[in-house]
Amino acid sequence: MNSEKIPGLYIHIPFCLSKCHYCDFYSLTSISAIPAFLEALFKEMEMYCNRFNPFDTVYIGGGTPSALSPQQMEDILMSVQKNFDLISNPEITPEITVETNPADLDRSFLESMREIGINRINIGVQSFDEKVLDFLGRRHSAKQAISAIEASRKAGFCNIGLDLIYGVPEQGIDSWLDTLKQAVAFSPEHISCYQLTLETKTPLGMRYQAGEFSLPGEELQHEFFMKTSELLEDAGYIHYEVSNFALGTKFTSRHNQKYWDHSPYLGLGPSAHSFQYNRRWWNHPSLDQYLAAINAGNLPIEETEILMIEQLRLEALYLGLRTKKGVSLQDLKNRYDYDLFTEKKEMLDKLQEEGLISIQNGYLYPTQTGLAVADSLSLI
Ligand code: SF4
Repeated sequence: MNSEKIPGLYIHIPFCLSKCHYCDFYSLTSISAIPAFLEALFKEMEMYCNRFNPFDTVYIGGGTPSALSPQQMEDILMSVQKNFDLISNPEITPEITVETNPADLDRSFLESMREIGINRINIGVQSFDEKVLDFLGRRHSAKQAISAIEASRKAGFCNIGLDLIYGVPEQGIDSWLDTLKQAVAFSPEHISCYQLTLETKTPLGMRYQAGEFSLPGEELQHEFFMKTSELLEDAGYIHYEVSNFALGTKFTSRHNQKYWDHSPYLGLGPSAHSFQYNRRWWNHPSLDQYLAAINAGNLPIEETEILMIEQLRLEALYLGLRTKKGVSLQDLKNRYDYDLFTEKKEMLDKLQEEGLISIQNGYLYPTQTGLAVADSLSLI
């Protein structure tokens, strides 16, 4: 079903030096198990050798990959090259991204990352407002974020992404717009703006449930969203996905696109998800279980699901309508045997009249207003 698309490789580094108060990702704060984890990761790569077509993206995420040493990062990339093929030709240079915490980014670490072949760096800035950083429990300051961005440029990175968070309690629109303006001043090639969401088991989620603070209501959230889009588009960024902005199509995240268009991807490391054909599987979200499975010679898979064509179609719509490019009606027919235009004509007409979607050149895509309510559009 997705054999013609080029796959991507994701590697989850399950360590963070401290835990942010809103974080729901799997990571451990004790780093003593890094060597055992890396040994298992290399074995996991061997187990998947030859099971995927060549990749054109490698994304090292987590957790905090920058908690590893340059030598450990180099060992990871050497093992990737030993076990997998990366597409590299005059048209395609592999996109190799690493997620980082500003507190870890000194000049020597960054230069090492460039030397080992990392060509895209994502920096978890989140905010330039100290009060917001403190509320979120980030382990870096705004000053460190600024130094990290400047040092990344000096080290030669030409593709820098900044992650930012909005909708934080007590953060007014002005503080948020100020953070955005400060971000834009560095001309990063990519900016991700995520709305704060609180999972129940996180420290902030528990405080929220205890009634200690409230989150912005729907109207204010909408205002955050629209003002963000306006400011960044005025600064030359393309708002190409609900939360993502790029300085031109060249700098959209090639790796993330794979999650949105049902391209295959292989995820390695605890809790990582993979997808191929109509099958999705994910690893144990526990380092102990991950190590035990691999050391017993087994893949560390917790669960596998086979997606029916109906589920794939719904996902394709849900994910596609979160992107500016939208969904190809022909693709829906070819891949999911579904003629949306005939089946849902009335609904499509209504959404067009309301100015939420547009249909042009065989694509159904959200308008700017539609992008703000993208999740509800998928209920078509
Ligand atoms: S650095 Fe990222 S992964 Fe680690 S605790 Fe904070 S939000 Fe979670």
